[in-house]
Amino acid sequence: MRPFVFEAHIPRTIFGQGTLKQVAAEIERLNCKRVLLITQDNERQLALAHQVRDIIGEANVAGICADAVMHTPEEVTTKALAYAQSIKADGLVSLGGGSTVGLAKALAVRTGWPHVAVPTTYAGSEATPVLGETVNGLKTTRSDPKILPNTIVYDVDLTLSMPAFLTFPSGINALAHCVEALYSATINPIIEGVGLSGISQLWRALLKIKDVPEDVDARADALGGAWAAGVCLAHVGMGLHHKLCHTLGGSFGLPHAETHTVVLPHAMGYNYSAAKDAMGKIEHAIGTSEKAPQAFWDFEKKLGTPTSLKELGLKKEDLAKAADIASKAQYPNPAPLDREKLLRLLENAWEGNPPE
Ligand code: NAD
Repeated sequence: MRPFVFEAHIPRTIFGQGTLKQVAAEIERLNCKRVLLITQDNERQLALAHQVRDIIGEANVAGICADAVMHTPEEVTTKALAYAQSIKADGLVSLGGGSTVGLAKALAVRTGWPHVAVPTTYAGSEATPVLGETVNGLKTTRSDPKILPNTIVYDVDLTLSMPAFLTFPSGINALAHCVEALYSATINPIIEGVGLSGISQLWRALLKIKDVPEDVDARADALGGAWAAGVCLAHVGMGLHHKLCHTLGGSFGLPHAETHTVVLPHAMGYNYSAAKDAMGKIEHAIGTSEKAPQAFWDFEKKLGTPTSLKELGLKKEDLAKAADIASKAQYPNPAPLDREKLLRLLENAWEGNPPE
């Protein structure tokens, strides 16, 4: 028997094509009169903010903040908060990937303002009450119901032209949430079903997108899989893979989705024997006769993603420090955490070797 405690907390979710225009009705539903649009300072994301300003109407937009960067540094939040208060904003609309959603979450938890998230990557942050923030170079994570966005608006059109170098690592980041949910100590039947459907959808969708990047049905499946992945991340505890990626991103500045991509087959290999049941279900979901870690490795090769920590810029001398940090932290994981074994995992991931 597997006992569990489960309490669902999933935001109102609008999913479809051309749904961006529904943001206007959603902010009205939340009684917001002067929203702050949050995005990133590049041509694509700024154009999206201007499009949403036209949809909502200038009178209902207090301003645009394009300062979101990865890992939500506190100084960026402080500056954005001062700006938001100076323009008398009363609500937040985030337009972008996990970095943008992160800044909006940081403002929402400080102000209590409603937040409509419009995700444009597969990171899944929009579905979680979790916020990672960086203070003096140290990233810490907290969870609070006020962090969970009120509404998610998924518009598949916003993902159609996402380039391969972003699409595939971001999709594998989402797969990682589903994989670790399946062998989580806090898994329950609902999240197991969500995780397996996310894996199946993402796996097949990413292969189709490799051949036809603007295949609307495949893009919709990838985005739906990302939602499932976010729901998994929100409801059950993650294991070794997420802790390693948190360490590599937070302490060594490695890029988020790419780090998840490189580490995932190795973390799965580490946990394989201790999580046989979950691995069997994953193998069934992706329809492989290989062991799941090897299948993920081959999948990444096929998609052409990065496969080594070396190419992401990690120095070889940092591997021992990363193994120290990851083995010191206490958290549930199917296989016991052993510093020497973790160092070996990291060395393999650094070299770009296949998983053990
Ligand atoms: P990101 O938000 O930094 O986006 C990466 C790049 O892609 C940016 O330059 C962005 O402008 C661009 N971009 C976004 N959408 C695009 C599109 N459709 N087409 C073309 N370019 C596009 O990266 P990310 O991987 O989405 O998010 C990473 C951040 O999210 C990290 O800080 C991570 O810690 C956080 N995160 C948090 C959670 C959580 O639950 N708290 C979950 C996942 C990720």
